[in-house]
Amino acid sequence: MATTATFVPRHLPLRLPRVCVAVTASNAADMIAKAEALARDNPFIEFRLDYIRQPGSALPRLRRFLEYHPEVLAIGTCRRAASGGKFRGSVAAEADILVKAAAVGCQLLDLELQSAVAMKPKDLQRVRHAAALILSSHDFRATRKLEETFRKMTAFPADFYKIVSTATHLADNVTLMKFLEEKSHQRSVIGVCMGEQGIISRVLGVRAGSAFTFAAATPGEETAPGQVDSRTLRDVYRIEQVENSTRVYGVAGDPIEHSLSPAMMNAAFRRETVNAVYLALHAKSLADLMACVRQIPIHGLSITMPYKQEIIKHLHNIEPLANKIGAVNTVIRAQDGKLYGFNTDVAGIVRPLEQRLPLKGAKVLVLGAGGAARAAVFGLKERGAEVFIVNRSSSAGQKLAKKAKSKFLTQSQMRKLQFDAIINATPVGMGSGKQSPLKEKEINARFLFDLVYVPAETRLMKLARARGLQVIPGSEMFVQQGARQFEIWTGKPAPVEEMQRIVTMALQAPKK
Ligand code: NAP
Repeated sequence: MATTATFVPRHLPLRLPRVCVAVTASNAADMIAKAEALARDNPFIEFRLDYIRQPGSALPRLRRFLEYHPEVLAIGTCRRAASGGKFRGSVAAEADILVKAAAVGCQLLDLELQSAVAMKPKDLQRVRHAAALILSSHDFRATRKLEETFRKMTAFPADFYKIVSTATHLADNVTLMKFLEEKSHQRSVIGVCMGEQGIISRVLGVRAGSAFTFAAATPGEETAPGQVDSRTLRDVYRIEQVENSTRVYGVAGDPIEHSLSPAMMNAAFRRETVNAVYLALHAKSLADLMACVRQIPIHGLSITMPYKQEIIKHLHNIEPLANKIGAVNTVIRAQDGKLYGFNTDVAGIVRPLEQRLPLKGAKVLVLGAGGAARAAVFGLKERGAEVFIVNRSSSAGQKLAKKAKSKFLTQSQMRKLQFDAIINATPVGMGSGKQSPLKEKEINARFLFDLVYVPAETRLMKLARARGLQVIPGSEMFVQQGARQFEIWTGKPAPVEEMQRIVTMALQAPKK
């Protein structure tokens, strides 16, 4: 082991910023240009020198940048390929770059445990004395052996111990955060789980004791799997405000990557100054999800495919309408820890319609007999509408009609009737948007509500507009089911306009 000298970090503010933005580029000019663009909003930057072909060549520009920006706190990192970085040189060369990075103004240096073990004691001592030292360990496969790794790490004196693991399921976040809670009483620790399932630790790790967390400069510039960009971490998840009393909510499903719910619900919490954060939880099983609900704890959940039915057996009670529909899309954790289920898809369908026409006695045709159709049929029946069902497989359609005391129609019966509203609750029209579940002359109604919301304008909507119908886009269902969730969780009216604005913007954004 290299040194036993106590080291007091120099030039470090007493309170570190919560977010350190990792900057990468293949050449020095680009790296500094990116840092310039970031510096105003991000006073804490990690320079990933290993991404530059000749890391040493970046140092003169880095010096000028840091002289010009004394407010920036900088980490110098030159991680070797063997440890998951890009630097192909020896550990001695790595030590050399790091010491020089400190000389040009980096107040912190990041050194991987593997390098520290392999380094000559004199090189390690040089690194250790050059700046504040972050000793790191990355596990790109799993969250395991945290104690053992930490023991190995703390054999080396350092100012911060950074443990980065990979979440292969949601409960790994709980493991890592418990570990951070315990160790942060003894040492300065930094911890995060990589991977899509590591989002919980990326947002909540700071309140579990992580000295700070890492963010990507922009989407697409991640230096680790699952890393969130700094703007999203600040503006969407409001990481600067996350504290012990911040309530945690999330949307759970599989897959969940493209869900618009986090953007919409976090915007709603922000607008109404609710101290809460909402995360996308990629749950590969409900058992995994439920462990997090108890241990984090999570105060409320939006439940999406494929768990809307399966979740019911994990709940203490569900509202009667959700029971009839046989699906729950909203869970609230009461003060006694019990879980209650609701179906807000009903509000998602009923509210946009009743804002436009009285539902009592209205003739409404529902296309489909799946989950969304069931929410529509039972919700509309409850409001006194006369409901008709058309479905590809007649057996499923007839079964639903019987259960909900509504009428099943064949296509030819349907063509002879006139409706107040038609609701498309099939996926036809999704994706390319080229298909329509009805031909133009079959769209016999005053209103058309297409529950499909990607694309924002479907073929069915175009045909209906051409025929003079008033069209309700599927995004209104998405917003209204979320608005009802917000009300159930917070007891406050939801900022519907703001939620609609965020969803419309997201749907119009070019696809990545
Ligand atoms: P689901 O449970 O799988 O039901 C799908 C229904 O559509 C079934 O009745 C099925 O008929 C029918 N169907 C499927 N493919 C068809 C095809 N090619 N031609 C004709 N009928 C077809 O799905 P869900 O959860 O009800 O969702 C349905 C759609 O609603 C989704 O695709 C989504 O676009 C939309 N949705 C929107 C929101 C929102 O917030 N806007 C929320 C939930 C759902 P069979 O019985 O014959 O299989």
